[in-house]
Amino acid sequence: MGAGHPIRIQTMTTTDTMDTMGTVEQAIRCIEAGAELVRITAPSKKEAENLQLIKDELRKRGYTTPLVADIHFTPNAAEIAARIVEKVRVNPGNYVDKKKFEQLEYTDEEYAEEIDRIRERFTPLVKICKEHGTAMRIGTNHGSLSDRIMSRYGDTAIGMVESAMEFLRIARDEDYHNIVLSMKSSNPQVMVQAYRLLVNHMMSEFGECYPLHLGVTEAGDGEDGRIKSAIGIGTLLEDGIGDTIRVSLTEDPELEIPVCRDIIKRYQSSSQQQPVVLPAVSKLPYDPFNYRRRKTFAVANIGSTQVPVVIADMSRLDSIQETDLTDIGYVYNPSSDKWNIADAAADYIFCKQEPAFALPGTLRVILYASEWEKAADKEKCFPLFSAAEYLNNDIKKSATINWVMIDCYNNSTDDILNGQTLDKIANDPTAVICLSTENKNAVQSVRRMFIKLLEKKINNPAILICDSSHDTMDESLVHYAVEAGALLIDGLSDGVCFGHHFGDNNKPVHTKLINSIAFGILQATRTRISKTEYISCPSCGRTLFDLQETTARIRAVTNHLKGVKIAIMGCIVNGPGEMADADFGYVGSGVGKITLYKGKEVVKRNIDSEIAVEELINLLKENSAWVDVPETV
Ligand code: SF4
Repeated sequence: MGAGHPIRIQTMTTTDTMDTMGTVEQAIRCIEAGAELVRITAPSKKEAENLQLIKDELRKRGYTTPLVADIHFTPNAAEIAARIVEKVRVNPGNYVDKKKFEQLEYTDEEYAEEIDRIRERFTPLVKICKEHGTAMRIGTNHGSLSDRIMSRYGDTAIGMVESAMEFLRIARDEDYHNIVLSMKSSNPQVMVQAYRLLVNHMMSEFGECYPLHLGVTEAGDGEDGRIKSAIGIGTLLEDGIGDTIRVSLTEDPELEIPVCRDIIKRYQSSSQQQPVVLPAVSKLPYDPFNYRRRKTFAVANIGSTQVPVVIADMSRLDSIQETDLTDIGYVYNPSSDKWNIADAAADYIFCKQEPAFALPGTLRVILYASEWEKAADKEKCFPLFSAAEYLNNDIKKSATINWVMIDCYNNSTDDILNGQTLDKIANDPTAVICLSTENKNAVQSVRRMFIKLLEKKINNPAILICDSSHDTMDESLVHYAVEAGALLIDGLSDGVCFGHHFGDNNKPVHTKLINSIAFGILQATRTRISKTEYISCPSCGRTLFDLQETTARIRAVTNHLKGVKIAIMGCIVNGPGEMADADFGYVGSGVGKITLYKGKEVVKRNIDSEIAVEELINLLKENSAWVDVPETV
């Protein structure tokens, strides 16, 4: 991996490592699905030793895929595994360092002493790896930073980077370079910032960069897990960062592989389309290491400090009926003549014609300019202009919101027209910029336009229009998540509109899914919270309960708790730090035993798993985080 090799796909088994045949069978399913490396947990010496049997059986059956031992806390197990498998993963926060999750003060001397101690314990592993040609991943995790790192850097991206750099310096001193690094977090924003910082620090300290393993840890399952992973991994790949990827889902590991494939497919395209050369940037006008939303003024409910808006593209329907709005969060009840409005209800619909019924709540309509002129209700309908239409003073404009399309550096884009349009937009308190592109390097093209807006101090709100022509919705999900997520993570974009151009019937059959993906992307980038957030680990040989089934059970009873973050973890290996991001934690602590956390604090220890979900609900109630499921009207 690295040095121009293809981006490698990997996953991790969830079986008990002592179950040799079970692990072999699962590893084969992963390899057959496309995994190019398979990781297996080795919590103690006996599992590390058993890796030999697993490896022998795989080789006997003709599978030569490299194996990786996952190590936490046990240098002894690492030293055994490094003689058996092709790669070992160590977590700097869990390898030698003390971790009592206490706030400790370290003098410079004590700090240096700890680093000496790490050098003493870590160097033997480096030497074994060097001798056996074994690779190593220095895998930092946001949740398991040591007390020492926390004392100096806190729970930050820079703390994650320094934690890895300490180990990397020791390895380099031994002239050992067979290294890959990772900076995982369950929050894609923290994860992206940490990897960028790591590259920055490696380049400034060593003048070179080691390969990187990308992943969003504890991403969860289903659509949300896929969205979070695609945003974190995709944003970095768009930056040109990343050599191997793992999508961590709370599902069977072989199901992670198609998602990995969809993510990297973007960079393996056989199409002849070349990326467009964009104007050079002399100074980046935003900080890629810290989140700060682009400063804008408000146009109605778009921009400024308001949450990004979601626009549902319903332009493929000739006319809109009440029932069509069900897919975007508005359910009409004819008997009560009332609308139920979901938390994830779109703010605008883009359609061919003005709807012929009274619109629910704050839902508004966007129409092509010529159609808008005919609209009866100009309080609720607003026009969309091409750049040329917007510049034409003879074409009527809205007094409230005018949506203006800007093509970002398309090959055929007229730069003079764009320049004139932007100059006019800059003085218009009603103009919302709609950015789109058909370029292969779409993220970079739209980002370059945002940079231009920043440089020219154009503070109008700007939204992203992103179309997909992929064959499957799985690919479209990745497409939307990467293209919108990469901008939202940097504080760019005040809204999204996702279109779809596939299938030959004229019905937007995926409207519901696309609406859900849009809100999922905003949630994952923490820009708009509309549902419960789950941080659940993928499970591994350390898991002591059925994580998939438990996650589904917890989801079923808590999925109406908008904004509440619940962590569901197989064990506490990554520490309560991982739950710094969660409000409540449900963590395996022994066979049939669960420990419940509030933030980083244990509140109920080793309770029976039979009653643990009920106890979690009680905990939510005790902390005013519970509401009953709302009744529908
Ligand atoms: S948190 Fe989950 S995936 Fe991580 S080591 Fe524990 S059980 Fe395994």
